[in-house]
Amino acid sequence: MSDNCPVCQTKLNTKQPTGNADVSTYAYDCPRCGKFFFQENEPGTSMFVLREGRVAILKCWGERSHLVRYLKSGDCFGEMALLDLYPRSASVLAVDRSIAIEIPADSLHQLYQQDLEQFALIFMNIGRELSRRLRDADSRLFEQAMAGKITRPADLPSAI
Ligand SMILES: [Zn+2]
Repeated sequence: MSDNCPVCQTKLNTKQPTGNADVSTYAYDCPRCGKFFFQENEPGTSMFVLREGRVAILKCWGERSHLVRYLKSGDCFGEMALLDLYPRSASVLAVDRSIAIEIPADSLHQLYQQDLEQFALIFMNIGRELSRRLRDADSRLFEQAMAGKITRPADLPSAI
């Protein structure tokens, strides 16, 4: 996490997150690039569901930020840090005017205590989405390995 924009290195304006559900929260404002929901490597205590707009998922490599993918309305982001308790794996920049529903970990815990059925449904959907993304990542890695762009996985044992 830094005070500078991961894309253009301009100093960011920082906003304190409100911590309320149903509030769209941009944590950082870059005068050049626009608004970020969060930055790579910062701790994460909430996930977001994009209600309107489009966001870019960016990862830093060396001095530069690179586009990983775009997400559209209905997609969620930030759920990985919520589940594995590691820092944010990427930065999220609003490309269009974007409205997201922020769901803090505390709210999910409350839901667990009050409505187990809804809680299970939400986690089922998060699990499904993560599985889709893992499938996509696996298949992209496999294609690149087969094209010789990255190291091939070890050969299968000959007994198989
Ligand atoms: Zn910027």
